[in-house]
Amino acid sequence: MAIVGLSELLARGVRGRRVLVRADLNVPLADGEVRDDTRIRASVPTLRRLLASGARVAVVSHLGRPKGAPRPELSLRPVAPRLAELLGSGVSFCEACIGPEAGDAIDRLGDGELVLLENLRFHAGEEQNDPDFAKALSESVDVFVNDAFGTAHRAHASTVGVTNYIAETAAGDLLESEIEHLRAVREPVRPLMVVLGGAKVSDKLAVLEALAPHADVLAIGGAMSYSFMAAKGEPTGTSLIESDRIEDARRVMSAAEESGRKLLLPTDHVVADRLEAGVPTQVVREIPAGSMGLDIGPETAERYAGEIASARTFFWNGPMGVFEIPEFAEGTRRVARAAAETAAMTVVGGGDSLAAVNQMGVGDRITHLSTGGGASLEYVQGLELPGIAALER
Ligand code: ADP
Ligand code: MG
Repeated sequence: MAIVGLSELLARGVRGRRVLVRADLNVPLADGEVRDDTRIRASVPTLRRLLASGARVAVVSHLGRPKGAPRPELSLRPVAPRLAELLGSGVSFCEACIGPEAGDAIDRLGDGELVLLENLRFHAGEEQNDPDFAKALSESVDVFVNDAFGTAHRAHASTVGVTNYIAETAAGDLLESEIEHLRAVREPVRPLMVVLGGAKVSDKLAVLEALAPHADVLAIGGAMSYSFMAAKGEPTGTSLIESDRIEDARRVMSAAEESGRKLLLPTDHVVADRLEAGVPTQVVREIPAGSMGLDIGPETAERYAGEIASARTFFWNGPMGVFEIPEFAEGTRRVARAAAETAAMTVVGGGDSLAAVNQMGVGDRITHLSTGGGASLEYVQGLELPGIAALER
């Protein structure tokens, strides 16, 4: 069954109906204040559309890792004023997310009003997908909307369990947009070009294995490229190598070869004696003993950029070097620029990768910035995400 989107739900009419929205309001706090409101902003469009249609909205989310017990410093309360500001309308806060207190707070809502409920993970039942907790969450509402793509790869009470007790469900705009764009990577208009980088093969092994036979071209950069070079017997100096992943790297390379796909590795490198701002750097073809690879070289960056220019679908996760330090940011900048300039549909995912494209000033020229983290990577691998499957039932 196809997932119902927000527009379809609104067309059916939501005025006066009580809608439980699972949002991702897991924002960093400092001294009881919201330090970065990106996730709150991202949740606003769905909430605004529901409110404008007269729904009575109860918002739930997790924040941090309270491990199943109340922790005052992980309360969602500081999020309420920020959310109210961004929505331009009142937001009440309820110190519970289940039980009579939450029920009363929802009962008090008028049409087009919103209450933010307390951190779901103050209850162990949330992460355990406990049926009693899921039932309690669904008690006072009529409709469920999931807009928290970042937790869609987890079978929790608020992502999966509730759908057993609320018949009418829909995907929020954020979730729908993630699915649509990440599906376009799974079922691409070809050629599909993928660039994977970042710190570790071990973090990205599953996505490497899934995409090596799927992408027309898979280019590798970042620290993980040295484990691939080691697998080919090339010198890697003192670069970060995961010696227990070299066999995995070899397997990824054969998977690409057996499927007739192209797998690209760096052919030149920016090296230094140590990982530090201000150290002397050198561009080399062969990494000397005692040197550390800290970015892809200009020739490699140009080659990757050329492939991005001729792709029709482009997916990128993982910086090409230590982009946080200017001396080692050029490779990442070149790939970011190519992503901004290509006619291809472009999707970038990963916390550091998003930071990188924003640092390079091209965030608004990427078709889709995927904020799903682990969920995004699981989706492009073709895995079924429990939170999405639950909306399909
Ligand atoms: P994302 O968060 O986008 O998934 P990762 O967390 O996998 O990306 O990787 C990002 C990190 O990898 C950055 O902090 C970056 O400094 C580091 N990195 C990239 N290339 C290298 C390298 N050659 N040596 C050491 N660290 C690197
Ligand atoms: Mg990261």
